[in-house]
Amino acid sequence: MYVKLNELGLLVVISGPSGVGKGTVRKALFEMTNHNLYYSISMTTRKPRVGEKDGLDYIFTDEKAFQKGIKQNKFLEYAEFVGQYYGTPIDKVKEMLVKGNEVVLEIEVEGAKQVREKMPKAVFIFIAPPSRKALYDRLLSRGTESKETIIERMEKAEREFKLAHTYDYIVVNDEVSNAANRIMAIIRAEHAKTERSIYKYNKLLEL
Ligand code: 5GP
Repeated sequence: MYVKLNELGLLVVISGPSGVGKGTVRKALFEMTNHNLYYSISMTTRKPRVGEKDGLDYIFTDEKAFQKGIKQNKFLEYAEFVGQYYGTPIDKVKEMLVKGNEVVLEIEVEGAKQVREKMPKAVFIFIAPPSRKALYDRLLSRGTESKETIIERMEKAEREFKLAHTYDYIVVNDEVSNAANRIMAIIRAEHAKTERSIYKYNKLLEL
């Protein structure tokens, strides 16, 4: 099927250091009304945390199936994060974009880099903590990970902090609702960009 670029939905990549609250901000974004956002559910080899549901929070799988998916090019991007695999199934993303939906990915920074290489027209948003201390406090208070995992995540966060300049936008997660509002404002502004709206605008003039 031939699709004009401007008829495609927007791909929004939310990324940033581990523990910055990407997941919480993303959930707040989806709780807002009046949007056309579709959340791309990732696949992971990590075990479900208490309360997490298969097919809703993640598609939980094992390493063998994940590796098979990699070989069959089933992922738009994937990364190994603290000993576990995480990836974005490509088919659903494509389907939703072609239908004109906005697709939101919430992924770590290595995956975001891969998406930028494959889909440079996506919008890349870096979620930053209000301070380094705030991030560390959050990682420590989570209580779901072992001490080793927490230390590993902190070290990783230190390296990830430095990548903010490679993103289109930086949103500080001082308050979850503020951060979600800022992301929504970015999505709306991106829509109004001439390169995205000129096709619809020209159609309007034809009427
Ligand atoms: P968690 O184990 O805390 O749910 O997620 C660990 C990290 O993996 C988080 O930074 C999260 O955003 C990221 N993540 C979740 N899904 C994906 C994915 O599909 N691809 C990549 N690259 N990272 C993901």
